[in-house]
Amino acid sequence: MRTFHVLFEPDKSHTSDRPLRLLLLSLLLCAILFAQRPGEVFQVSTLDALSQGIFEGSMSFSELRGHGDFGLGTFDALDGEMIALDGSFFQAHSDGTVSRVENDATTPFAVITKFKSSQSFTITGPATQQQAFAAIDKMLPSNNYFYAVKIHGDFVYVTARSVPRQFKPYPTLADAIAMEAIFPLQNIRGTMVGFRSPAFVKGINQTGYHFHFISDDRKSGGHALDFEIRDAVVEIETVRQQSTYLPDNQPFRVALLPLP
Ligand code: ZN
Repeated sequence: MRTFHVLFEPDKSHTSDRPLRLLLLSLLLCAILFAQRPGEVFQVSTLDALSQGIFEGSMSFSELRGHGDFGLGTFDALDGEMIALDGSFFQAHSDGTVSRVENDATTPFAVITKFKSSQSFTITGPATQQQAFAAIDKMLPSNNYFYAVKIHGDFVYVTARSVPRQFKPYPTLADAIAMEAIFPLQNIRGTMVGFRSPAFVKGINQTGYHFHFISDDRKSGGHALDFEIRDAVVEIETVRQQSTYLPDNQPFRVALLPLP
């Protein structure tokens, strides 16, 4: 008994800094775990659901922010195009203006990640969208992973678009897009925020490339229909993990989403 008593007696000389040491150890462990955690593409709802007109926001932006700092999507009632860059969230409206997204706004569809570039290269143009995509394709290890892609620089032009707010009963996505406003942006500096998704996610997400644009002055943006690069830096993150949040609402529950 004496021996145990001696072994377990608190060492008073170290008592005062023990909480600090435990905190530092916890922080170190968290940092190691975070550094080793694979990146993840997180998305809200599916493209099939959005295509059928399920435009009811199902996740708030305050919650979405917890899943990433880089991505794209739309808003409740399909009210414009969403761009997330460096942790800032923007709404490109159909009247051509861009505003910051409020935390209590909601999204019916979004794709987002915590962006961490794993490779980068420079494009010295002019380079068309197709040439840029071909150059990026060459850098990729496989067609079967997700890639978060950031293209920042000077563009000869960007053809961006946004969609106007829709009203119930909601139309299909195709009918809503028919009402799109197109913004031909010339000689503009900004960032393409996007993803390249594998073919097997068809129905869940847009396959291939999908970009939203935001100008450096944060005054112009939208879904990118076409662009030409003058000079830009491309940063790519390979992502091998994907998570889809399915809306907890009646329109999603009753939608006749196609079986394969
Ligand atoms: Zn888009």
